[in-house]
Amino acid sequence: MQVFGLTGGIGSGKSTVASLIEKYGVPVISADELSRMVVAPGTRGLAEVVETFGSEVLGDNGELDRGKLATVVFSDPAKRKQLEAMLHPLIRERFIEVKEVLEQAGNTQLVYEIPLLFENNLEHTVDGVIVVTASEPVRIERVIARSKLRPSEVRRRIDAQIDEATRRKKADYLIVNDGDLVDLQQSVEKMLREYLRPLKDDDGVQEL
Ligand code: ADP
Repeated sequence: MQVFGLTGGIGSGKSTVASLIEKYGVPVISADELSRMVVAPGTRGLAEVVETFGSEVLGDNGELDRGKLATVVFSDPAKRKQLEAMLHPLIRERFIEVKEVLEQAGNTQLVYEIPLLFENNLEHTVDGVIVVTASEPVRIERVIARSKLRPSEVRRRIDAQIDEATRRKKADYLIVNDGDLVDLQQSVEKMLREYLRPLKDDDGVQEL
């Protein structure tokens, strides 16, 4: 099973690319989704988080309130590290389980959408990295339209991530998303044809 990381800065369009890739029949696993799964009600992950950070991180419905948890760990780097050390192995475990299910179902390639792939030094865990990129003004505009954040808040998030030039340099395949959604669909088609497909053939996997 070949695993490709899909990453990009906030507002670059990586979630949009992920859903396009899925439409063409290549399964996508989202790290954000896995991170929610491992602290869902009744999980060992949630029990560990509550044990360590207290029941004040729970909402009225007894589920994890991610906003409250963020407030607890935001100003304390040691606590944030502790939370990451707790969740990352659970996310990895869950990823392997989902990957195995996909493999048993006959899939030979999957895409793993990880926003902080480079920041968390995870490039060695995948067979190749697809980076989605767009110019900073375009990214800021998209995030504001999506979330109503102020430009300064978007910039703060951008600054907390790896810089765009480094991210581009580390890519095995780069999708430039400065155009419209039709352009993006064409770029994804090109990526599937020219990047994933030859790798699939190289691996001795049957042709489409
Ligand atoms: P990311 O996951 O990288 O933060 P998203 O895929 O959520 O980015 O895209 C950010 C926003 O911009 C979304 O609302 C999405 O619909 C929109 N978007 C992405 N690419 C384009 C594009 N090429 N043209 C217009 N809107 C786009």
